[in-house]
Amino acid sequence: MRKIQLHWKIIIGMISGILFGFFGILLNQDSLIINWIKPFGIIFINLLKLIAVPLVFASLIKGISSLNNISKLSKIGTYSVFFYLISTVIAINIGLITVNLLKPGDYFSQSKKTEFRKKYASDTDKKLSIANKVKNNSPLQFLVDIVPENIIESSSKNKNMLQVIFFAIIFGLSIVLLSEKETLYVRGFIDGLNDIILKMIDLIMSFAPIGVFSLLASLIVDFSDGNLNNLFELFSALGLYSLCVITGLVLMIFLIYPLFLKLFTNIKYFEFFKGIFPAQMLAFSTSSSAATLPMTMDSCEKKLNISKQICSFVLPLGATINMDGTSLYQAIAAVFIAQAFGIDLSISQQITIVLTATLASIGAAAVPGAGLVMLIIVLESIGVNPEGVSLIFAVDRILDMLRTVVNVTGDATIAKIIDAKINDLN
Ligand code: ASP
Repeated sequence: MRKIQLHWKIIIGMISGILFGFFGILLNQDSLIINWIKPFGIIFINLLKLIAVPLVFASLIKGISSLNNISKLSKIGTYSVFFYLISTVIAINIGLITVNLLKPGDYFSQSKKTEFRKKYASDTDKKLSIANKVKNNSPLQFLVDIVPENIIESSSKNKNMLQVIFFAIIFGLSIVLLSEKETLYVRGFIDGLNDIILKMIDLIMSFAPIGVFSLLASLIVDFSDGNLNNLFELFSALGLYSLCVITGLVLMIFLIYPLFLKLFTNIKYFEFFKGIFPAQMLAFSTSSSAATLPMTMDSCEKKLNISKQICSFVLPLGATINMDGTSLYQAIAAVFIAQAFGIDLSISQQITIVLTATLASIGAAAVPGAGLVMLIIVLESIGVNPEGVSLIFAVDRILDMLRTVVNVTGDATIAKIIDAKINDLN
């Protein structure tokens, strides 16, 4: 019998998870799902997070140390930052155009606003206190945060991925600067470590269909609070706002990225899409670019034929700093909340959104909900009451799943472009 491919198994897991969640609610079995199904989803996410730091560490050092000259590395670095910034700014502008045209906030009734604010007030307080900490820092704090004082401590938290990347880059660079003889054993060790980690990822991925099944079944239950009507009510209230975000995200996937690929590479978009599809499905199910990273790297290397060196440098960096979906969503959400509060944003405020959403998406960790926390900073920068985020909590989980798909697709697109550029130079 022909073996079913992993991404099909993941899709089957997703669809059956959604159906299971719906039927669970209809049959009043939500506690069964929360107690007996949800833990498998959490285990799956934990397994993915578990492998993230070792993967970035080993693959980045291997990638850098196999570059035989520093100038190639600096070219890859410069291209990455350049294309990541360009794609983020384009995404924000698409977001701003969509939200200014559709004006979803104008349709929000006063009673709905009050209702949502009340419902999510306590949660807002928690998010506000995190954002306030960020806000009181110096503008250069993000640079300070990249340089760790203790690598063991940094490695103990996935949100410190940029610090791990920083350490791995210096480590890899030092290997390149030393002679072959001096680093022979370390190179051998890193090669072996890398192979072992890739095998571990294979093993973890075989659990993915069950993992995404549990994640989606429990998400439906959590989201609806045990009542399907809640699900429909929330969607209709925030329908136009969600539509704006979804339109922007769809434009990125079906217009901007294909355009980028057409301009800078030879790959057909269908081929690209087919190759990255499994990673997109995992991004959708986990809402985390970091958790999806192993799959993104695997798909880029094996299906999109991007060189290992480029994948191991550009993708971990992209997962942490390049979030086109998140920045687009932040722009739309900020304007939407302002509209809902009856505030007309000036052009200079909208330009501020471009700047702060770029920084906020760079600063957002590649985990579920991170974009929402950083949105508070964007709101503060344009003088909109950050409590406004309570208006959009209700649909944020679903939009998070979708924007993570765009984040991951953006990383893969840029990796493919850099691969083509570097090949052209050779
Ligand atoms: N969940 C997103 C990611 O991991 C970040 C966010 O927008 O919340 O890419």
